[in-house]
Amino acid sequence: MSTAATSLPERNAAEVADLVIAPDAAAPEVRARRVRQRRQMYVGQVASYSLGAFVLLLYAHDGAIRINVPSLFWIGGLMIIGIFVVMSEAGVGDGHADHYLTVFQISAHMALQFIFLVSVPTIGIAFISVLFLIFAFGTLRMTSAQAMLTWAIATAGLAAVFLASDLPIGMPVATKLQRTASMLCFVLVIGQCATLGLFGATLRKILYRRSVELKSAYQRIEELAELDELTGSYNRRCIMRLLDADIEKSRQASTPCAIALIDLDWFKRINDTHGHPVGDEVLRTFAITIFANIRPADCFGRYGGEEFLLLLPGTDGGAAARMLERLRGIVADLDWSAFSPGMRVTISAGVVTLRDTDTADTFLARADRALYSAKAQGRDRIATS
Ligand code: GH3
Ligand code: MG
Ligand code: MG
Repeated sequence: MSTAATSLPERNAAEVADLVIAPDAAAPEVRARRVRQRRQMYVGQVASYSLGAFVLLLYAHDGAIRINVPSLFWIGGLMIIGIFVVMSEAGVGDGHADHYLTVFQISAHMALQFIFLVSVPTIGIAFISVLFLIFAFGTLRMTSAQAMLTWAIATAGLAAVFLASDLPIGMPVATKLQRTASMLCFVLVIGQCATLGLFGATLRKILYRRSVELKSAYQRIEELAELDELTGSYNRRCIMRLLDADIEKSRQASTPCAIALIDLDWFKRINDTHGHPVGDEVLRTFAITIFANIRPADCFGRYGGEEFLLLLPGTDGGAAARMLERLRGIVADLDWSAFSPGMRVTISAGVVTLRDTDTADTFLARADRALYSAKAQGRDRIATS
């Protein structure tokens, strides 16, 4: 009978993501997609009831049941489907977390099976086997509480039929045709259950893939929010946050902490002489050079324009000055002629170590004063304070 929801092994991720979107968040296009999904499901249900009615027709043809049973079963199924189609098209389920109204559908289809089980008990097993299919469909979408509830309803119904009555529930196997029909009952239910199981597995796979994609997209967004677009170094907001954290750590662990404010010399002249795009390339190459020559624990960020802040945790003044002197030499010795023949790029830096009385602002102000003094002394040099 019912429920062959959508037998498609492949659906696109957007459609599946829709299954986990809260109803309030459902945009018009999402609602339209849901209506489309529900229509597919109802088509599957009609097909399923038609197959069931066909099997009943075989029993009827053999005289095991009255000839009107298959058509009543088919019409009963179609009436239930019709009611839910009307509600679906009217958007009744759209306000619910489960827009398929699964519990109501399951209850209605189960009720129909029980009506036929009681009315035509001699082929009762056929209707009972459909209950498996109903639950295979339901568990795709139900919460565990809903599954428990519907299972309890099914149990109560079965108990009433098996224990509170003496109906001769059976499965005719007297003739070849009856045996064929009985076999088909199981074959069709197994096939449809398997299809639903595969559909559920595909949903899980797609959702898993989407969660991996979302995770990496989120990571990328986080990176972008922290990085300077041009140089790939930390942006000002991030490097300032890291400075605060380094100061805190240094105070807690009583370890030294040094910083360096680095500024490219005569950079305006580089821009003016070679053009802004070349200036950008110089900044990028400078940043890559610094990255290649600092330690993993050091943090390098763009403080503004052609001015950069280098955090050197656990480093005392002497080691920091030596390190900056090394970086200065590396930058000065780089072959910049690839950008423009005869081009030279040098840096100046102010290097300071954290004092007990320092705040982030005074720490930076001292580095700035040291940088100013390096500039005043003629550039391409390091100054400490
Ligand atoms: P000094 O040695 O005193 O630091 O001289 P300077 O020319 O480097 O300093 P100044 O502050 O006069 O000029 C800095 C220049 O850096 C001006 C500005 O246009 C340029 N600049 C800032 N950000 C960028 C950028 O992202 N790309 C490029 N190409 N230039 C930039
Ligand atoms: Mg400069
Ligand atoms: Mg500057």
